[in-house]
Amino acid sequence: MGFSDWISAGSVIIASVALVVSGVTLIYTRRQLRFAANDSATDLVLQMGQVFLEYPLVRPYVYQNAQPPTEETNPEMHHRVEATGMFCLDVLECVWHRREHYRREDRASWRELIHDIFAGSPAVRALYVENQEWYPMLRRLRESRVCSHPSDHTFFSGGTPD
Ligand SMILES: [Zn+2]
Repeated sequence: MGFSDWISAGSVIIASVALVVSGVTLIYTRRQLRFAANDSATDLVLQMGQVFLEYPLVRPYVYQNAQPPTEETNPEMHHRVEATGMFCLDVLECVWHRREHYRREDRASWRELIHDIFAGSPAVRALYVENQEWYPMLRRLRESRVCSHPSDHTFFSGGTPD
């Protein structure tokens, strides 16, 4: 083997090592992104939970399908529910915006959480329908019709309840 052969063998080895290193870096970065995406989605949902700790009387309007009061009958609660509903929609839009960074099973869990919140809240459904153009990710999710509990999540599945 001549000197130039050694040189080219050396560059092949260096290139291979570089390839392995960049592959490992890519896997590591993806994993970090995944953790970061999951963490920030979790943080957002925890912030949503904070709203109900501070204002527990709002909870039935988001989780128990209670119809919110009109502005005339109870302006304070009416606007609180509207504001909470918008906050929930913003959080859910962000959660679903990051879906590509979740593992498959996590993605399904996040999807069903979104479906559950819609299923439990006339206010969230109404606010979404009135402002669909603000929520392109949720709209895409709804158009996909993918759902693990179609009879419970008719708003997303397009199915009919049992
Ligand atoms: Zn579902």
